[in-house]
Amino acid sequence: MRPLSANPFSRLLLLAALLAAGTEAAEQDFSAVQITSMPVSGNVHLLPGTGAGNIAVSLGADGVLMVDDQFAPLADKIKAEIARLGGQSPRLLLNTHFHADHSGGNERFADAATIIAHENVRVRLLDPEAPRAPAALPLLTYADGLSLHFNGEEIRLIHLPHGHTDGDSAVWFTASNVLHMGDEYVVGGFPFVDLLSGGSVEGLIENHERLVGQLPDDIKIIPGHGPLSTKAEMQAWIGMVKTTAGLVMEQVVRGRSLEQIKAQGLPPEFAAYGTGFINEAAWIDAIYRSSVNP
Ligand SMILES: [Zn+2]
Repeated sequence: MRPLSANPFSRLLLLAALLAAGTEAAEQDFSAVQITSMPVSGNVHLLPGTGAGNIAVSLGADGVLMVDDQFAPLADKIKAEIARLGGQSPRLLLNTHFHADHSGGNERFADAATIIAHENVRVRLLDPEAPRAPAALPLLTYADGLSLHFNGEEIRLIHLPHGHTDGDSAVWFTASNVLHMGDEYVVGGFPFVDLLSGGSVEGLIENHERLVGQLPDDIKIIPGHGPLSTKAEMQAWIGMVKTTAGLVMEQVVRGRSLEQIKAQGLPPEFAAYGTGFINEAAWIDAIYRSSVNP
């Protein structure tokens, strides 16, 4: 993996962001949040994120495997929903990446679950400036990928290097025909490329291009955030990412400054993507910084 960041100012910004996220999670009132579920296909159910990331659960004869776990205060509600579906506390817990809205509940499931993630997830959860409880750390890590054989199917963890972060994985339930993309794909918005955690706009595009050819056309796709999606929708989304990144890069090559590019903005047809977590200025910023510090 890359060092966390060589730039001390970037480290401070990252620390501030992580502390803000942690404080937000600790102070946020989760009492009104309801955890629900919907069947997706085969063994797989989706527990939609409400502010936090989407959870996938495989239920079957071998027990429960869960992908991501939102925030710790929601763990009891997540367990209750799994119990309502007829499952026990998860035996296997996979993290698509280290961000707290996807791994924040790790320590609440660790008594029953073996936590599995890419090796950089463990490194980032060990960050001495924002350390997590030892129980939150993955027990099993991998570099490129891993196959689990659980509930009658092969479940493939595929590392997606330097995209959203440097520790992202897609989780492919091969027989159920479902793919959890983590935050490498978010429906309806510009992507969040966490440049301070090894993310890269170019890497995100390359990851999608490498992965998409392997996927059946009718596969059901769970994004990191947003509603259940399709391969065609995900291809259209990465097309938008490529087009907008290309437009910004044209300006960079012409020698325009970041301020000039932001002032000009993207064509209005892309405006709807900027109404969520990442607005247009933040997306232009990520493309620009990704290009000057790839
Ligand atoms: Zn994330």
